[in-house]
Amino acid sequence: MTEFELIRDYFDQRCTFRDDVLLGIGDDAALLRPRASMAQAVSIDTLVEGVHFNQDSSPYALGWKAAAVNLSDLAAMGAEPAWAVLSLTLPHANPEWLREFSNGLFDMLSRFKVQLVGGDTSRGPLAVTVLVQGFVPDGQALRRGGARPGDWIYLSGPVGMAGLALWCRRHQVDLPQPNGRLLMESLDLPVPRIETGLKLRGLASSAIDISDGLLADLGHICSASKVGAMIDTAKIPRSAEFSACTRPLLEQGLISEETLLSLQLSGGDDYELCFTVPATRCPDLLGDDDYYCIGEIDDGDQIRCCDEQGQLLIPEHTGFDHFS
Ligand code: ADP
Ligand code: MG
Repeated sequence: MTEFELIRDYFDQRCTFRDDVLLGIGDDAALLRPRASMAQAVSIDTLVEGVHFNQDSSPYALGWKAAAVNLSDLAAMGAEPAWAVLSLTLPHANPEWLREFSNGLFDMLSRFKVQLVGGDTSRGPLAVTVLVQGFVPDGQALRRGGARPGDWIYLSGPVGMAGLALWCRRHQVDLPQPNGRLLMESLDLPVPRIETGLKLRGLASSAIDISDGLLADLGHICSASKVGAMIDTAKIPRSAEFSACTRPLLEQGLISEETLLSLQLSGGDDYELCFTVPATRCPDLLGDDDYYCIGEIDDGDQIRCCDEQGQLLIPEHTGFDHFS
């Protein structure tokens, strides 16, 4: 298979639904039509073998996740996604692998009407880089620096599932089905909270997606906003699958409540949104969505957590850092 056959067979003409793409894959550059009165949001992320995934990772999940983690960054800005570019480095061209990988990639992209408009293909150690672009009305982007003391802190959904899934995979713990499968899907096939990001425009004072862990990512909001935060750990939501999977592990003494809490606080890879809303605007959040209020922004300079008894907890690890 030549480089050009590879691009034609697996990446070209797979989704061509956008009329703001004047010219897609095939020329020296793509031609795209920007939108009036809209800021263009741009984000890029790389997944590297041995760092973000292993040799035995499913190629479908890799394609899906490479797109999903980028779209999650657009969700956290309140942007509507539109276009993607893919840079693929492969040790060899395996048709079976390419078919699965591209199916995963396009299943995620087409779910949000995102068109792949170009890329680059080279030979080397397996690595996947995706760049995405989207639109957000001028002045309405959800930035990290807008949180103020008194704002309430919310999560768009339960956290800790992906961290627990990774923990189970590392410790080779088998989980009862179907909850075990749902747990693994939250790690391998995350769904970016695009709709939530769009609804939060003009409402949230700040937002971030949880990729490195709740404490680490909320920490970015706090430093950018020059504020502190108090989290009520009892209010951090757990999904039904999380509880169903952890019950037997707790009973057998394979895991402790402290570990579960630290997976929720620092586990990462959840891709829920963490956002703040001024107290006066919180009633506007009530609707058909489930958001979870987990604490309040204060005028301190750190994140503090308290448990059900009101005891202060000082978390040990805050989250993932490539260079720490
Ligand atoms: P050039 O040598 O001019 O950079 P390439 O040969 O790298 O062009 O790419 C040819 C066309 O195929 C370009 O339009 C490029 O955007 C697209 N392309 C290359 N690799 C990929 C890929 N993995 N996925 C999608 N499009 C790709
Ligand atoms: Mg090129």
